[in-house]
Amino acid sequence: MKINKTDVVAALNSSAESNVIRQRTLKTAIGCSGVGLHSGAKVTMVLQPAPANSGISFRRTDIAGRGAIVPALWSNVGDTRMNTCLVNEANVQVGTVEHLLSALAGMGIDNCVIEINGPEVPVMDGSAAPFLFLIECAGTVEQDAPRQAIRVLKRITVTDGDKSATLSPSAGGFRLNFHIDFASAAIGQQDFSVALTKGAFKAEISRARTFGFEHEVAYLRANGLARGGSLDNAVVIDSTGSRVLNDDGLRYGDEFVRHKILDAVGDLSLAGAPLLGIYDGVRSGHALNNLLLRKLFADQTAWATTTIAAGSAAAQGLALAAPDKLAVNS
Ligand SMILES: [Zn+2]
Repeated sequence: MKINKTDVVAALNSSAESNVIRQRTLKTAIGCSGVGLHSGAKVTMVLQPAPANSGISFRRTDIAGRGAIVPALWSNVGDTRMNTCLVNEANVQVGTVEHLLSALAGMGIDNCVIEINGPEVPVMDGSAAPFLFLIECAGTVEQDAPRQAIRVLKRITVTDGDKSATLSPSAGGFRLNFHIDFASAAIGQQDFSVALTKGAFKAEISRARTFGFEHEVAYLRANGLARGGSLDNAVVIDSTGSRVLNDDGLRYGDEFVRHKILDAVGDLSLAGAPLLGIYDGVRSGHALNNLLLRKLFADQTAWATTTIAAGSAAAQGLALAAPDKLAVNS
């Protein structure tokens, strides 16, 4: 057999491609139903496999036509009061997307269509664990395309009073550091730091529940929020700020700061691809997390897309040196 130059180039390309992390989707469709935390609406949701390079998107099955598709992207974030709500150009919304998106990002899912027959993702138990369970039940498959990640090249910060959110370059994968400081004695000051790997996400972050204060509930409900909220899907702190009202207490001693990281993983997944960088959140929330992405993408010199070499520090999710193994494409 005669081997020409084209064959050699093709062979080299395929061996280079076989050495990079590939995109993943679900093996099969899997669904659940529940109520929305804020709307209280009962919804059914099905996670569907999706083709390579299609990303994560929602499809409202109760709405006809193209307006039913709501891509999970930072540019589609509308309301950020107490949740991250996506809205498309047809003004079709999907609310409280952050815990589900966190589970998809934490489990390394690049492509998925989330079919939902109402305006808000079900809250389940207030954490990402039930979604992680669904993803594990469905299983995941590797796809025939390299995963594209977004490498942070410059330090970007957004602030609002004493709150801030920062992205900085990392030589490895994606690390999140978070600091919270509440006047409530039940929360107080908490710090947590995690390198985002599948194992760390599942063990250290996924089970942390959303939380709120008893005295806020009436105000939130009067403003159309927290209508589906209960002790079954949130940690609630009493009006003195010193006691957790849930009978079973907390799942982690520092569940609150872990949940803030869970939210940040979901909010930052709206970059549209995994981030390689270091996130520092100080009392940050959904609004600042979204502003951070807007500021990052407004500066073309602050980021670049890249594939991830198998076995590299980025592939491990560890912030360790191995930048030479990363091929920056643009
Ligand atoms: Zn949350």
